[in-house]
Amino acid sequence: MDCWICERPALAACRFCGRGACREHAKSHPFVLDVYRGEKHRSLRALVVEDAIHCGVCRPRSEPVDMPELE
Ligand SMILES: [Zn+2]
Ligand SMILES: [Zn+2]
Repeated sequence: MDCWICERPALAACRFCGRGACREHAKSHPFVLDVYRGEKHRSLRALVVEDAIHCGVCRPRSEPVDMPELE
């Protein structure tokens, strides 16, 4: 796999869209691994990786998107 931007060999794959990224073009972006309900406060909590690899091209949303057309 090559870097999406410069076509050199990629060192990583974007966690969000799967594009390849070389060291120069790889960015980081928080990635939500899991969402769960806390035991004490019954509030929703998210397990987040702060520096997941991001290609710098796609636009991950920090919040889930409603998709009413799929229902
Ligand atoms: Zn590159
Ligand atoms: Zn991406």
